[in-house]
Amino acid sequence: MTKIINIALDGPSGSGKSTVAKILSQKLNILYLDTGAMYRATAVKALKLGVAVDDAQGVKSFIDDIDLQIKYVDGAQRTFLDGEDVSEKIREPHVSMAASDISRLKCVRLKMVDMQRKIASSMSCVLDGRDIGSFVLPNADYKFFVTASVKERTDRRYKELVEKGHNVDYNALMQEIEQRDYNDRNRDFAPLKQADDAVVIDTSTMSVDEVVSAIMLRIKD
Ligand code: C5P
Repeated sequence: MTKIINIALDGPSGSGKSTVAKILSQKLNILYLDTGAMYRATAVKALKLGVAVDDAQGVKSFIDDIDLQIKYVDGAQRTFLDGEDVSEKIREPHVSMAASDISRLKCVRLKMVDMQRKIASSMSCVLDGRDIGSFVLPNADYKFFVTASVKERTDRRYKELVEKGHNVDYNALMQEIEQRDYNDRNRDFAPLKQADDAVVIDTSTMSVDEVVSAIMLRIKD
């Protein structure tokens, strides 16, 4: 049996992790697991039920039985909630903040982390997230912490949202990114954290190809 390898790619919102993770998974022919999509889908579930994303008791009442599935269609991750494909819905701007809020809850993190560990132990994958190297998979084979300046991250997210047809206020977006950074870094349980043994890559002035090459250089087969 070929050895299972797990690559942890952590970093703040908009650092370019997901773009890089997708390319890496194709190059290495392994799975890409976007863990943020799981927190986003959980937020969609709460919104659907009318449960406030900071209501721990309300969220506890549905989290253990959440029908959340990650499937791969033509090599791309699709996220299903209660049997419905919510892959586009989870990208709506209001879901980003809701995901950041709901991801603070310990009951949510325990459930998501359990699902992530099961997937990672069954197949080789690159996981992008906030706490993969520091908490979910402390023994991951490779760990990278991908970051960029707030301005650069806002520019990238702005461009992406405008291209998708969303009407976005640049300053409000920057504030939201800063707020999400703050939430992610300061939550009590499994915060956004650079693992001590992670390789840090500041992508502020790097192209996607340069980031991918820098990572590939460190991944031995
Ligand atoms: O990566 P993405 O922006 O899609 O993640 C949405 C939110 O989910 C983040 O703001 C973060 O609060 C949360 N998240 C997390 N841990 C992860 C992945 C995402 O807390 N491993």
